[in-house]
Amino acid sequence: MVNVQSIRQDFPILQTEVYGHPLVYLDNGATTQKPRQVVEAMVNQYYHTNANVHRGVHHLSVVATDMLEQSRETVRKFIHAASVDEIVFTRGTTEAINLVASSFCQQEMQAGDEVIVSAMEHHSNIVPWQLQAERKGIIVKVIPITDEGILLVDEYEKLFTPKTKIVSVAHVSNVLGTINPVADIIRIAHDHGVPVLIDGAQSVPHMPVDVQALDADFYCFSGHKVYGPTGIGVLYGKREWLDRLPPYQGGGEMIGTVSFEHTTFNQLPYKFEAGTPNYVGATGLAAALEYVSNIGMQAIAAYEAELTQYALRQMIQIPGMKIFGPLVNPQSSIVNCQLSQQDGSEVQCSRGSVISFLVGNIHHLDMGTLLDRLGIAVRTGHHCAEPLMHRLGIEGTLRASFALYNTLEEVDALVAGIKRVASMF
Ligand code: PLP
Repeated sequence: MVNVQSIRQDFPILQTEVYGHPLVYLDNGATTQKPRQVVEAMVNQYYHTNANVHRGVHHLSVVATDMLEQSRETVRKFIHAASVDEIVFTRGTTEAINLVASSFCQQEMQAGDEVIVSAMEHHSNIVPWQLQAERKGIIVKVIPITDEGILLVDEYEKLFTPKTKIVSVAHVSNVLGTINPVADIIRIAHDHGVPVLIDGAQSVPHMPVDVQALDADFYCFSGHKVYGPTGIGVLYGKREWLDRLPPYQGGGEMIGTVSFEHTTFNQLPYKFEAGTPNYVGATGLAAALEYVSNIGMQAIAAYEAELTQYALRQMIQIPGMKIFGPLVNPQSSIVNCQLSQQDGSEVQCSRGSVISFLVGNIHHLDMGTLLDRLGIAVRTGHHCAEPLMHRLGIEGTLRASFALYNTLEEVDALVAGIKRVASMF
């Protein structure tokens, strides 16, 4: 059970007033707010145990190093990786995907080889591959989606050729809220001998994730979207892949020995962590993962599903409302549902706690600005997914995205706000 009133006490920013209204923060897909436990863990480290890691024999450096490795273990446990050697700290999801795109292409791909992404990817899972397309001549292929924003799994299967070398897709769409059938996507790729990278930026904060159960080859997420600090994220990679791939960046920490003639590289995961790591960020991330683990990811998923359903039920009644993404029957009591694909086959489709919408002809920027005047923070625009906007034939949407500290009353405020703004046009 999520005790939302007690949870809200942990997030001082939620007491903020905006234009005389209590803040209703519904931009959690972009970044989440931070509980005291995270901020205090970081402040305590700066006050009491700050020293550069891995390099010193002195007391503080040893303590800081232990803390970093303990944080790595917390991450390992959270996503159920087999070993801490498979947990690489990065700046975030974006850097993790760039790391894989760069190292994987360098080692495993030739001109004409293919990567498969989907039509609903964030720019951070498109552009790194396009950079490799320019540099190395690889080809980016795209899994099409239905108008409701559901991946066409049959079409996905048809994209494989002997030149397909990697698949890279989002677990949950940051625009549509679609929860992709990543276990199936991975199984199909593995049937073709192809590894898969999963962008978990919008899944890890909202549901239990088990990288071994999924059999993901690579999985990444950002700390700041799961109540942790900015500037820290995670790349999980199966040991066999991380061992095989070359380093992404060069510098301190990632080396074995260095001479001007020849340099050898450090063991995993340090081979991919050049330079001083964001060890205070790692402390904050571990505190965040412990925070959500104490509440329980299952409980968080169930609570957010309740909020999302409550919102969908009301929003769908607003005249002119267009909701994007798989629209689960808002009258049903669960957010999971069976959906029919174009060929009549059924696909398990669930919806994440992201609702993108437009109302009548009201421009998303106008509505977003007016909602802000009521204290309601939603995101507007293309959500770093311009190709998806093109697919949907729109320029942008409003997006409300929920977190564990949001309340049913805040959903009511959103709905009342949308109605009020709509009545002004
Ligand atoms: N992937 C998805 C699905 C996202 O929603 C985001 C951020 O919104 C990212 C990747 C990029 O995350 P970051 O900017 O933290 O690297």
